[in-house]
Amino acid sequence: MITRKDLIENLKAPLGELEADRELFAAAAAQRDRMVGSRVHVRGLIELSNRCRKNCLYCGIRSGNPAVERYELTDEQVLAAAERAWRAGYGSVVLQAGERTDGAFVDRVERLVKRIKERSNGGMGITLSLGEQARATYRRWFEAGAHRYLLRIEASSPELYARIHPADHSYRERMDCLRVLRDEGYQVGTGVMIGLPFQRVEDLVDDLLFFRELDIDMCGMGPYIEAPGTPLATSPEAFSRAERLQLSLRMIALLRLLMPDINIAATTALHALHPQGRELGIAAGANVMMPNLTPAAVREGYRLYDNKPLADTDLRGFEVVFDRAWGDAPHFAARRKASEPLAEDGSEK
Ligand code: SAM
Ligand code: SF4
Repeated sequence: MITRKDLIENLKAPLGELEADRELFAAAAAQRDRMVGSRVHVRGLIELSNRCRKNCLYCGIRSGNPAVERYELTDEQVLAAAERAWRAGYGSVVLQAGERTDGAFVDRVERLVKRIKERSNGGMGITLSLGEQARATYRRWFEAGAHRYLLRIEASSPELYARIHPADHSYRERMDCLRVLRDEGYQVGTGVMIGLPFQRVEDLVDDLLFFRELDIDMCGMGPYIEAPGTPLATSPEAFSRAERLQLSLRMIALLRLLMPDINIAATTALHALHPQGRELGIAAGANVMMPNLTPAAVREGYRLYDNKPLADTDLRGFEVVFDRAWGDAPHFAARRKASEPLAEDGSEK
């Protein structure tokens, strides 16, 4: 059993050479191979739109950033990207966008999910990452065919959360959304940014324990990277970029040891800090990558932070699953089984 003390010791070890963490990364990768297999699952990422009603202090596409030219993919562009993915052997796509809750947007996502399902004969797995929504909306999208949802808590400490969001963004509401998503039947993913201003190593330890406490199925976490023109970009940095990369890899490895059978993504932000960032993430125990399928013409518009890679992922060097598998985390099936009622004699049904 990994304790808080173990986590602190590992995360607080001197930062500098990635090589020094070799044993930790190898142990995590071996755990991954045993528990979820050595193959990397891919999800094609489609960034629907950079319009957002929120104003998170760290995000390049926050509503208060006038320098961003706003775009919206057409339904045809989204469906074409999903169809290309399906033909290429992807079993899953992620629809991501800035947060909108208006009726037109909710209808549109429902329609897109249904169409992607129809055009793949129900075969394509669909993950949504569209922020905080009403229960009824999550339900409609689930009924339309989405089955996984990514909603990062961003920082599990309510105090740190408050420092990186405007006063009208509520930690409690975000937590409620995570509970509702689970309740509605989704496989739930969350995550945090690593190396935020004001963040301490102890906060990161608490983030890992928070994931375990919430019993998540998937995690997408990565380094915080300053986005020019955002309020947080002018705050003093807590960790250098090299330290953020190393801490992010340690977080992936420790989470794999803590929650062996969940899906853990090697995120794009790792790549923004190191040309082989995502590959390093896989070597540290991650098992999911999300190559970007957003049409190149608008990719520039979805610039969440400085130096966001615009090119496609280099998938050479891994055994990547292109067999149209959904690649669900075994954790989800185990969690469902554990919550099934017991038979009258006390045995599992
Ligand atoms: N709007 C939805 C939401 O917030 O959940 C989905 C899109 S949002 C752009 C996806 C993720 O981008 C956020 O959860 C956040 O962690 C990440 N992100 C935003 N700005 C970032 C930054 N400056 N550095 C690293 N990650 C960032
Ligand atoms: Fe909008 Fe998501 Fe960026 Fe916050 S992180 S401003 S909700 S796109």
